[in-house]
Amino acid sequence: MVEWLEYVIKPSNYISSLCYSVFRLEPFTTCSYGCTYCYAQWYRGPHGAPGEKPWVPRGFERIARRLPRGLPKPWFRLSTLSDPFQPVRGGVSALVKKILRIALRYEVPLVINTKGLVTRDEEALWLLVGLADKGLLVLQYTIGFGDGTASLLEPMAPRPSERLSEAEMLARLGIPVIVRVQPLIPGLEQEHYRVAIQALRSGARGLIGEPLRETRAGLARLYKLLANSGEPPGCWEPYQLGEEPGKEPLLHPCPWWRTRVNHALEALATQHGAAYATCKDSLLTLHKWYRPGKTCCLEWLGFREEPLLRPTLHEYSYLEWPSLSPEQLCKELGPPFICDHRLDQYPAIIRKGVRAHLAKLERLLRSENRVRKLLEKLST
Ligand code: SF4
Repeated sequence: MVEWLEYVIKPSNYISSLCYSVFRLEPFTTCSYGCTYCYAQWYRGPHGAPGEKPWVPRGFERIARRLPRGLPKPWFRLSTLSDPFQPVRGGVSALVKKILRIALRYEVPLVINTKGLVTRDEEALWLLVGLADKGLLVLQYTIGFGDGTASLLEPMAPRPSERLSEAEMLARLGIPVIVRVQPLIPGLEQEHYRVAIQALRSGARGLIGEPLRETRAGLARLYKLLANSGEPPGCWEPYQLGEEPGKEPLLHPCPWWRTRVNHALEALATQHGAAYATCKDSLLTLHKWYRPGKTCCLEWLGFREEPLLRPTLHEYSYLEWPSLSPEQLCKELGPPFICDHRLDQYPAIIRKGVRAHLAKLERLLRSENRVRKLLEKLST
């Protein structure tokens, strides 16, 4: 693999045009939680006992040490293809704790997404508290449904009720907790709303919703597990802009269903004084809280300083689709959006990552047809 792609999510139509989280730290080769719907399997292979990647903290430290002073820092997602707190030798992996220490030492912000339990590991817990105290952390808990459904779809992960207690305890310690209600699955709406309410009562500062993406065969397997005939209920439509040769196309629920669920989750969040965002599923201009610089990762609920950002379709939509290149738009927006000429001050991996995603966005914008197709796929 090219080295920079170890730390950068690969550019694609959805990620490059809608997603702000493009830097990642992947300490493991796979994930032991074995979720049936896991999209990470398409990229890193099947579930199993995880191997550790000792070079990741070393590479992270090299990047962290070279970040320029006085400019917005990139945030890293720990991790995207496995659970960072899956148990290794009975506790939180030493490698993960090393990454947390590096982030703390060099003050690099982290977004951590997990289904794992961390409070049993005192050292890891205090590292998280230290990061939160410095405004360098947002902890995203994935809780999509109740214990019964989770025992079918996430057989090896801690139960959602355990995750909720954990989230509550961490929120009480001052850690900014966001709950990802995902994957959103037609037929499980009531469960999604129930866990969302429990999460908000447990102190979550925000919710993020992300609908299921699956192949037709994967959907049949999933609904069979849910004691359904295997026939997916509701309406499904293609997710990708085009088909990938040799790969089964992905489907996601129809826009009207996603819109309905998103509106319901947003109403629940608002009732509790929390924020709601969709993940790669709508333009942020739909949300009252949105302005350029506040992203759908809801990192602004926890980070003390504005992190490095690059323009996406959300900013184009906010400015009513100006005829500007991403670089021109970046200049128009100003900091924390970091434009090409200032990128030279960042380490090579950060430069390459931002430039690769901007180039992909620019190519997409050159094709009106593809932008229209992508916008048609979003919920409203
Ligand atoms: S916890 Fe995340 S990465 Fe691990 S199997 Fe489940 S969905 Fe996949």
